Amino acid sequence: DINDIVKNAVLKLEVSAKNKRQHFNYTICDDTVHVFADKDRIEQVILNILSNAIKYTAEEGQIEVQVELKNNFVQIIIKDNGIGIPKKDLPRIFERFYRVDKARSREMGGTGLGLSIAKQIVEAHEGSIKIFSEEEKQGTTVMITLPTVDEENLALS
Ligand code: ATP
Ligand code: MG
Repeated sequence: DINDIVKNAVLKLEVSAKNKRQHFNYTICDDTVHVFADKDRIEQVILNILSNAIKYTAEEGQIEVQVELKNNFVQIIIKDNGIGIPKKDLPRIFERFYRVDKARSREMGGTGLGLSIAKQIVEAHEGSIKIFSEEEKQGTTVMITLPTVDEENLALS
């Protein structure tokens, strides 16, 4: 159940958000959503994206996590109102070691691998990951889409 995976990741990082006095909202689906997945890897993806949201958002900022069912897919949306990503950097953001503005990133710590690892894992699950960030300071939204397993197939597996 993708809801459980997201819940676990949220529980692990809620403290860091609270330490920055960030407002944290989190909605999962009412129903169980089955995904055929390596649980630990998908949790790692959520942890990567969520820790970015916390890291690149100032104190008192807003972080939202949403799980939504769309036909045969589930969308996990992680949205922040932090520093955002300049348009020129967006096309390269999933590259290994790519980080926006070296000076800005240096003080934050990190290697620039989080997003590229997340993309690899999501694509290995036949899913997709997209990042939106209109303007700097308008915040960032990451959308992960994964195929769901319907009850019929679940019975067969
Ligand atoms: P690592 O995840 O390896 O510790 P990192 O966070 O720098 O390091 P990525 O997670 O791959 O690396 O992110 C790449 C770059 O994208 C970051 O350095 C940062 O500049 C930018 N970025 C990622 N997520 C956000 C976000 N939510 N808001 C603003 N910038 C972001
Ligand atoms: Mg990161």
